[in-house]
Amino acid sequence: EALNKILDIKGSVRVFCRVRPMLLTDKKRIHEPISAGSEKIAVKLAGTRKEFEFDKVFQQETSQEDVFAEVEPILKSALDGHNVCVFAYGQTGTGKTFTMDGTDEKPGILPRALNELFHQASFDNSYSLSFSMSMLEVYMGHVRDLLAPKPLYRAYEALTRCNLNIQTDSKGSVEIEGLTDVPIPDIAKARWWYTKGRRVRSTAWTNVNEASSRSHCLTRITIYRRGDALEAKAPISKLWMVDLGGSERLLKTGATGLTLDEGRAINLSLSALGDVIAALRKRKAHVPYRNSKLTQLLKDSLGDHSKVLMLVHVSPCETDVAETICSLSFAKRAR
Ligand code: ADP
Ligand code: MG
Repeated sequence: EALNKILDIKGSVRVFCRVRPMLLTDKKRIHEPISAGSEKIAVKLAGTRKEFEFDKVFQQETSQEDVFAEVEPILKSALDGHNVCVFAYGQTGTGKTFTMDGTDEKPGILPRALNELFHQASFDNSYSLSFSMSMLEVYMGHVRDLLAPKPLYRAYEALTRCNLNIQTDSKGSVEIEGLTDVPIPDIAKARWWYTKGRRVRSTAWTNVNEASSRSHCLTRITIYRRGDALEAKAPISKLWMVDLGGSERLLKTGATGLTLDEGRAINLSLSALGDVIAALRKRKAHVPYRNSKLTQLLKDSLGDHSKVLMLVHVSPCETDVAETICSLSFAKRAR
């Protein structure tokens, strides 16, 4: 029954919400503004209560295991030949990276998905699966390869020099020119490349105060029938895991210069993503992919036969209520 629900066509776009637990660094208040149920979340702002409904709400104490258990059916869709996009959306500091990557002790969706894919590959011979992986970052409309053999860049200024072009072939497949795509024959290799991509990303942003929160980080796992990867045949599907840039409105913080442009770039691409998902959800004939690099990149994985999972992250803090309501409203549009 639960599986049918996921495979139901209405379920081609699903929206989950995750509330981060209080951290020691948060300013504790007696009244927490959020009350969450299993599918509903209510936020109090200036005496009024706003309620939002989702396919699933993960409350503060929800473990990484429990989150993954709900995400897992979408992996099955990828193995069944659907392109899949999993997005982590939310204000900076609400746990997007925690959900996607996690920590060594509490691994997130991405390392768990890799485990699960290799488990499936070894466990069921009828699948005959093999995989390859790419990692890229989108920053202010530029696309950068995180697994390139020799990263040329160390700072964001150099980004314009490593911008990759996006092409669409006659069959509608998206081709990212020159993007490194490494075969991952086993879980050890997969972890090695994944760690490398993460390191390249954080090294490049060292000393650029928090700018990485204004970029999108995308990991793509391409799934083939065994052998196809070498023979360059068409893959059966692509699985995208996207840690989106922070959704906070930078204008209110008095940001200027580059940060303001960064903020605009992020807001633009997030609203373009929201428009695409809303159009898909409403089955509109025209889906506006062209409005941002992010949606161009994902065009062939955000369509008729693909599955989309949006994980919206919110803070439990009273000081973040305005941003929380913005994030929940964004998610409501997608739903
Ligand atoms: P973001 O990527 O959205 O900016 P992070 O994932 O970096 O946010 O999370 C901010 C901080 O909160 C990190 O220290 C992270 O470990 C912690 N955190 C986030 N979500 C959780 C959670 N569900 N449980 C425990 N710690 C969390
Ligand atoms: Mg992050």
